[in-house]
Amino acid sequence: MRPDGAADTTRTEEVQGVNAAPSAGKLSGVAPSVRTLRVLVLWDIDRTLLYVGEVDRQAYREAFAEVVGRPAERLPARGTGVTMPRAVAGMLLDNGVPEMDVPRLLPRMLEIVPQRFAAHLEDVRRDGVLMPGAVESLAAVAVEPDIVASVVTGNLRPNALVKLTVFGLDAYLDPDVGGYSSDHDHRPALVAVAQGRAAARYGVAFDRTSTVVVGDSLEDVRTGLEGGARVVGVAAGTTSAQALEEAGADVVLPDLTDPNRLLEAIRLLTGSATS
Ligand SMILES: [Mg+2]
Repeated sequence: MRPDGAADTTRTEEVQGVNAAPSAGKLSGVAPSVRTLRVLVLWDIDRTLLYVGEVDRQAYREAFAEVVGRPAERLPARGTGVTMPRAVAGMLLDNGVPEMDVPRLLPRMLEIVPQRFAAHLEDVRRDGVLMPGAVESLAAVAVEPDIVASVVTGNLRPNALVKLTVFGLDAYLDPDVGGYSSDHDHRPALVAVAQGRAAARYGVAFDRTSTVVVGDSLEDVRTGLEGGARVVGVAAGTTSAQALEEAGADVVLPDLTDPNRLLEAIRLLTGSATS
């Protein structure tokens, strides 16, 4: 800590066990066991890193039937990036649940959705796909010695962890410093949650100039702009590059197949030199 009580903006950290990717061969060419942390990269999950097909919606469907006692006729829209608590609240209303009952039923739904999702683990394994270039880009970011990577996601934390671990993506980031919709249903608020966790864990203050959200939806753009981060939009989901640009994404990439372009964008947006 600095004498004035504020967190230092840089700090040396042990690399081992922190962000170390399984195939982090580049690390051997960097500092032996120390690094100076300067940048926080927060990945969106769905349609940025992976896609689990209809499993999310199936979990919503089953939870609704269990909690409300009848089948849902309308499901939340796909690929919007809205937080699960808000998607589920909207689903209750869209299916004729009186507004006055939502505060009572929503917590029950949010308890059951992860249980139903976890019960479909085999479907996630079978139907889930990685987005093109996701692993390569995650790995490229993970081996940068001055970058801490985690997630900022509309997923409830248990669902996010299932998705990441099924595909082994948790090896490329630190899930403990992420922001999840279990923390708050207002997605932009999750940036500060993640920054706070990263600061507590690594002793480094991260702000808008040193945090980058990477995501595919307008909600990701809004999350960065309102929450306090730069935004790299990835137009491989359901939102076009033009729409991401118009919403205010700082940089838009067509997909994640060029990790160097992603790293260049992160360096540009954070004013951090390539290591
Ligand atoms: Mg997304």
